[in-house]
Amino acid sequence: MRTSEVAAGGAPAPTPEDPTRVAVVVVGAGQAGLSAAYHLVRQGLRPWEDFVVLDANTGPGGAWRHRWDSLTFGAAHALHDLPGLPLGVPDPQEPSSAVVARYYGTYEARFGLPVERPVRVASVSRPPEHDGGALLVRAVDGRAWSADAVVNATGTWDRPYWPHYPGRGTFTGRQLHTHDFRSAAEFRGQRVLVVGAGTSAVQFLLQLDASGARTLWSTRRAPEWTDRPFDPAWGAAVERRVNGRTRAGLPPLSVAAVTGLPLLPEYRAGIASGVLASRGPLRKLTATGAVFADGSSGELDAVLWATGFRAALDHLAPLRLREPGGGIRMGPDGVSVPREPTLFLVGYGASASTLGATRAGRAAARAALRRVPSRIAG
Ligand SMILES: Cc1cc2nc3c(=O)[nH]c(=O)nc-3n(C[C@H](O)[C@H](O)[C@H](O)COP(=O)(O)OP(=O)(O)OC[C@H]3O[C@@H](n4cnc5c(N)ncnc54)[C@H](O)[C@@H]3O)c2cc1C
Repeated sequence: MRTSEVAAGGAPAPTPEDPTRVAVVVVGAGQAGLSAAYHLVRQGLRPWEDFVVLDANTGPGGAWRHRWDSLTFGAAHALHDLPGLPLGVPDPQEPSSAVVARYYGTYEARFGLPVERPVRVASVSRPPEHDGGALLVRAVDGRAWSADAVVNATGTWDRPYWPHYPGRGTFTGRQLHTHDFRSAAEFRGQRVLVVGAGTSAVQFLLQLDASGARTLWSTRRAPEWTDRPFDPAWGAAVERRVNGRTRAGLPPLSVAAVTGLPLLPEYRAGIASGVLASRGPLRKLTATGAVFADGSSGELDAVLWATGFRAALDHLAPLRLREPGGGIRMGPDGVSVPREPTLFLVGYGASASTLGATRAGRAAARAALRRVPSRIAG
């Protein structure tokens, strides 16, 4: 195997003409990528020599690194342990961003995981006649890696979804997405429309109200409240539903569309007080406010689009994975992609949670190793 003689020691950086050769490249160091990396080590791959993890962030934590401070550890849903090192019992008042960044950082160090950052992957392709059919991974900064298999674990955070509504460009107030939310206190005294039917929208509405903002809520359909306990049977039912779509090549559903909104005591209180009462679908924005489908309207200072995220997969475009249905057809193991047998997707579809990502990382590491010539592994 040709291994990297670069990076350390000031040697020239690998270029697309002379990429660093590894067995496996993992793209993304969130829950999914770290789980895959752990299992690659367990299966005998040597960090740095046989595989690398390329991560666009400047430090550990994946998407969690960027979440707003009021999303404390106690306010997040359950966070699943990474394999081999329990998270422990963090302070529920501490921001999740700090808890998870610290946990992932410790994890990377403990297992000597070869995370190279910041490296944003611009493309994964299979150029004709390149390195015996290997995948070529190119970074935005010009560096490149050649690999027998690629495990893609790039999550959704980098691809906020902004829906199209008439008038969105003419509204003169502030517009922001969940991706850019920092603190409800910024909106004190303002009239704020929150758009979206997920947990983030619900939590924003309650925080904005508590911070002295006047809120309106718009959802396309009535919010799906549920008092079904979030137990393993429920988890399995959610997975089956999402897997059914991704195996058919359809885009995954949003989390709220699959899970519904848990009727926590604070949400019940918000429903009772009227803060969590949806005005229904939005028809359009005007220069100064919103008009709803029922003909009612409201003047606004800001619109907060809590409209979710899409899988951040633009860099995989050269592999032409999209099906006519708009999604990527996944194999029965939930990580393989029949159109590209040396690429594995983790954190996509049913594995887009810390629990699913952890399990998918293991499956992807095993499947990727089956694509690595035996002379390399071991
Ligand atoms: C607001 C919000 C709250 C959530 N709360 C929970 C919760 O409480 N519990 C739960 O289980 N799940 C939750 N989720 C789901 C969440 O997606 C998963 O928990 C999990 O963190 C996803 O892990 P991941 O590894 O797939 O992705 P991420 O954590 O997003 O990691 C992806 C990594 O890939 C990097 N990357 C992206 N593109 C590139 C590129 N082109 N090149 C190189 N690197 C790249 C990113 O920088 C990032 O470090 C939440 C999601 C959101 C949006």
